[in-house]
Amino acid sequence: MNLILLGPPGAGKGTQAKRLEDKHNLRQISTGDMLRAEVKAGSEIGLQAKAVMDRGELVPDEIIISMLAQRVDVASSGAGGFILDGFPRTVRQAEALDAMLGLKNTPLHHVIELQVDDAALVERISGRFTCAKCGEGYHDRFKRPAVADTCDNCGCHEFVRRSDDNAETVRARLEAYHRQTAPLLPYYAANGLLRVVDGMAEMDAVTEQLETVIAGRQGLGGGTGPGQA
Ligand code: AMP
Repeated sequence: MNLILLGPPGAGKGTQAKRLEDKHNLRQISTGDMLRAEVKAGSEIGLQAKAVMDRGELVPDEIIISMLAQRVDVASSGAGGFILDGFPRTVRQAEALDAMLGLKNTPLHHVIELQVDDAALVERISGRFTCAKCGEGYHDRFKRPAVADTCDNCGCHEFVRRSDDNAETVRARLEAYHRQTAPLLPYYAANGLLRVVDGMAEMDAVTEQLETVIAGRQGLGGGTGPGQA
């Protein structure tokens, strides 16, 4: 099963993708994580991307598309499918994805939008941090570690905050979402692939809604659903 999670920054795409990844043996592909790894490694792509990311703008399509092409190949081998988180973000990226999947005869089963109000996003994003070792996500207000400064998951005492998770950059990221990414909603609605879930609900309730969407597909008789190979 191959999925895309769509939604503004802070909608919960990464958290939900990780949950579905474990449960359904899918591979999460996050272009944001890939870019942050490039920045950390000091690679050519990382050097080009860093300033753009810090401004909250989108990295040029050519860079993203070539970076992703290699990952979809890897994801298709072994796992039960992929979850794209943070890609595509422009219609041009969506068209490139269609072409890539078409060549490999790989269908896309659902494009799921996590709908969240802009006002809630700024608060959600500016308080979030993750464990430096295992990546477990936390929030200053909504999810603090059970024992102060200790990761619930691995016991590590080091945490990191993304440099673009500040109020000013969040506003630029939201603006980029509405202007460049939201046009993907009618694009995928026209393909019959778009499903919508309420991203304002509690995290577990959002997971349940996602499971219902996925089960709906299985309920169609275990077929591959409305693919677009
Ligand atoms: P994310 O972790 O998905 O919020 O992405 C963090 C930042 O990486 C974004 O604000 C963009 O600058 C960049 N980025 C991630 N994915 C893409 C993409 N598909 N297209 C363009 N820029 C991206």
